[in-house]
Amino acid sequence: MKSITVVLLLVALGTVAPAQTPSTKSASDWRTPAERSDYRTTPRYDETMAYVRRVAAAAPGQVKVEVFGKTGEGRELVDVVVSRDGVFDPAALHRAGRPILLIQNAIHAGEMDGKDSCLALLRDMVITKSQARLLERVVVVIIPIYNADGHERFGPYNRINQNGPEEMGWRVNATNLNLNRDYMKAEAPETHAWLKLWNRWLPDFFVDDHVTDGADYQYDVTYSLSTGAGNDPALIEWQQKNVAPYLDKSVAASGHVIGPLIFLTDDADPTKGMDRYPSLPRFADGYVVLENRPGMLVEMHMLKDYKTRVTGNYEILCALLEVMNRDAVTLVRLNREADAAVVAAGKRFNPSAKFPLRTAPSKETEPFLYHTFKYTRELSGVSGQVWIHYAPEPLDITIPHPARLETTLAVAPPRAYIVPAQWTTEIEVLAAHGLQLERTTRAWSAAVDTYRCTDLKWNAQSFEGHHVMFSPQFAARSFSGHCTPVRETLSFPAGSVVVPMDQRAAKVAMEWLEPEGPDSAVAWGYFDAVFEQKEYGEDYVVEKLARDMMAKDPKLREEFEQRVAADKQFAGDPKARLDFFYRRSPWWDRELGLYPVGRLTTIEGVPLR
Ligand SMILES: [Zn+2]
Repeated sequence: MKSITVVLLLVALGTVAPAQTPSTKSASDWRTPAERSDYRTTPRYDETMAYVRRVAAAAPGQVKVEVFGKTGEGRELVDVVVSRDGVFDPAALHRAGRPILLIQNAIHAGEMDGKDSCLALLRDMVITKSQARLLERVVVVIIPIYNADGHERFGPYNRINQNGPEEMGWRVNATNLNLNRDYMKAEAPETHAWLKLWNRWLPDFFVDDHVTDGADYQYDVTYSLSTGAGNDPALIEWQQKNVAPYLDKSVAASGHVIGPLIFLTDDADPTKGMDRYPSLPRFADGYVVLENRPGMLVEMHMLKDYKTRVTGNYEILCALLEVMNRDAVTLVRLNREADAAVVAAGKRFNPSAKFPLRTAPSKETEPFLYHTFKYTRELSGVSGQVWIHYAPEPLDITIPHPARLETTLAVAPPRAYIVPAQWTTEIEVLAAHGLQLERTTRAWSAAVDTYRCTDLKWNAQSFEGHHVMFSPQFAARSFSGHCTPVRETLSFPAGSVVVPMDQRAAKVAMEWLEPEGPDSAVAWGYFDAVFEQKEYGEDYVVEKLARDMMAKDPKLREEFEQRVAADKQFAGDPKARLDFFYRRSPWWDRELGLYPVGRLTTIEGVPLR
């Protein structure tokens, strides 16, 4: 998000603490690098990995350091497994019904709070043992630095909105991609590595640690739980009734100010109220919902000092681990039931089933007690717009907040999708997600359900390297075109890919293959060529065609003449007038705009083996 006002505030606050000499490190000194600098600095990649390896060497029976992939620039992607009794094998842990928590840090490598809090948490679980009880039932997998290449683009000018540390990494990876927009399309090597890690561990809960942009307020810890569409109802209920109240109470008791994720409708006028967004499949916490797992997004407030943020992040992680240990049996059961429900629903086509692809905030609002700071608004001579500036005094105001997200587009899941073999890039994305795919053994053609898409518009400015069909800012609410369900006979060569829906991660396939989904392959531009007209008639050739068609068909002539008389724009557009006939002739390409992926209501008769 954007905020020029914050810069001025940071300057005014004088955020840089006086330099201190870090005390000399001894073998018994287990302070984290951030603690040793009194939270002025955050460690570089090498120093971070040295610290986790030092902990692992001191507690080999409880900590295992794994490499789960490589970045574009060749850095190792590291995860740290913490297990009370040295069981590090995910399959054995699943068999034993022990819940696994995956904590991801530094996907935005300027936002370091999670990394430094996880180093302290790791130490406190296995070295000082002050948090050893958090490992009673739960096994923790920590990614200290996910966006490792971005992390090493280190400097003091990477986070203009943020109050420390002195230097930090950069938001995106080495190819300038935001990894937290890549979970569905899976283009970055980091995402491929992450998906393999995810499928190997299949965690029971996922946390993604960030630092905010946006407004100023009293909260230092803000969070949301599993706001993606298509969430399992029993898992939602458990999170709302059992997780959220515990986090709120526990973090508040530690002296931090906890609140929900704050999205003001207008950052320059808090009284306009809060907005509400779903977490889309492109985001880490939105993606895991499609995998039937709870996902927590933590956003530490950018203007709080670094010590407050790192310790606040530590507190919410501890609180979550406490709930996971307390409710271990329930959590593992709910996750297994959520998986089983998806598999069971996928076994047969149910035309009345509805999977929500898009949601929007309800018109109905509820009051939200917003803990902000006193502020003044004035017309700025710098920007020419209203400038909001905050004073240090707390202000508690009640503002409207949409009561819920409501479904605006839902589809019935098919029994299976079928993707023609030649769409290799799109198929590779399905494979990267670990979906079970089957290949046809011979050419097959059949009448299948699909879509014909019209009125598509591509953004002129690219987004994550794509000219997408949605507004990047309001992706959940916008799609430029219309995809109308049609039944057409399509041809599928041998080796076409069938994606059966009776599998655990079936929702991932739906989000990728339903064209009007907010993160579909169509919306991201993967099927663009389907919507390009490849043959055309020269004007003087179509002119002759038009005259012949009218001579043979007086009704067509009448229709054309009426259109010319009634529609000024049409009448004044020679191309449209000729196109009127070309589109009605057998020369017109019937496959133009026809989505090549089929929705099967049964897999009987499909040549699979
Ligand atoms: Zn972030």
